[in-house]
Amino acid sequence: MVHLCFPRHLYNFFGIFIMLSRFSIRSVIVPALATMVLLASVGCQEVPITGRNAISLVDDKDITAKSIAEFKRLKSMQKMSRNPSQIKIVQQIGSRLSRTVFWDVPNAEWEFVVFHAPGVMNAFAMPGGKVAVFSGLIDFCENEDQLASVIAHEIAHVVARHTHEKYSQGWMLKPLGAATSIGIGTTIGGTGVYIPSVGSAASGGVTGITQSAFDRGKELEADHIGLIYMAKAGYDPRQSLRLLQRMEEDIASKGGPTVNGWLANHPGFPQRQIKINELMDEAMSHYQKIEESRTHTVIE
Ligand SMILES: [Zn+2]
Repeated sequence: MVHLCFPRHLYNFFGIFIMLSRFSIRSVIVPALATMVLLASVGCQEVPITGRNAISLVDDKDITAKSIAEFKRLKSMQKMSRNPSQIKIVQQIGSRLSRTVFWDVPNAEWEFVVFHAPGVMNAFAMPGGKVAVFSGLIDFCENEDQLASVIAHEIAHVVARHTHEKYSQGWMLKPLGAATSIGIGTTIGGTGVYIPSVGSAASGGVTGITQSAFDRGKELEADHIGLIYMAKAGYDPRQSLRLLQRMEEDIASKGGPTVNGWLANHPGFPQRQIKINELMDEAMSHYQKIEESRTHTVIE
C-alpha cells in the first residue's frame, strides 16, 4: 500500500539545514529540502507483517524488468540442477509460500530455480519474484521446513521491496544536480544471500550482485517476515532456528566467514537467533492454527 510517510533520515536533512543556515546558503538548501520532502511524501509504502514505512521512489516496472533480465543472465551463467527431487522440493515450497504471500505482492511472477552448486549453502531473491537456491543448501537442510525457512526469508526480501528501498535511498542522497533519474544502473541487486560466504567459491559466482541491496536491518526484517510467512504456510518455524544454529556451527568449523566486509552490513548469527526467538511465540500461534485445521480436516 502506498501512503504518506516521513522517513527518519529526512530529520537529518533538517539538522544539516539548520547548521548550514548559519552560513547564509538557505536559498540553496530550502528548495532542496522541499524537493526531498515532497518526493518522500509520495513514495512510501507499508511493509507487510512489520508495518514499517519504507521509501519507494523507483519505478516498480522498471526495476522489475531489469531484475528479470538480470536473473535470466544469471541462469545462463550458472549450471542448473538436473536433480528432479531437488527441483521438486524447491518448487513445492515455492508454490506453498507464494500462495501464502499472494495478497502482499499480487503482481509477482514467482520463479524458483535450483543452481547445481554442491557445497554452496545459499539462496537469493530478486525483485519481481525470482528466487534461486543453490543445491548445497538443499543437501545441508535436514528437512523441508529448514529449506522453507530460507526460501521464506528470500521471499520476504521481495515482498518488503528491499531492493526498491535501497535504490530509493541511494537516489535521495545524490546531489541535486545528479538526481535527474533514478539511476538504477545496469546491475539490479538481488536481495541478499542467506548466509555469509565461506570463501569466494562458496558465493556461486553471484556474490557481488546479490549482496548489494541489503543491510543488517533488512536482513533482520526478512527474518521476521519470513518466519511469519513460513508458519502461515504450515512450516515449523522452530526449524529456522535449528538451521541457523547448524549453519553457524558449520561455518565456525570451517574457520568462519572469509569475505571481507560481509559482516559489516550483515547481522551475526546470534543476533538473528535472538530476534527470531523473540518472534517465536507469534510464529508458533500461526503454525498451530494451520496444524489444528489440518487435524480437524483429517478427523472429518
Ligand atoms: Zn537476506
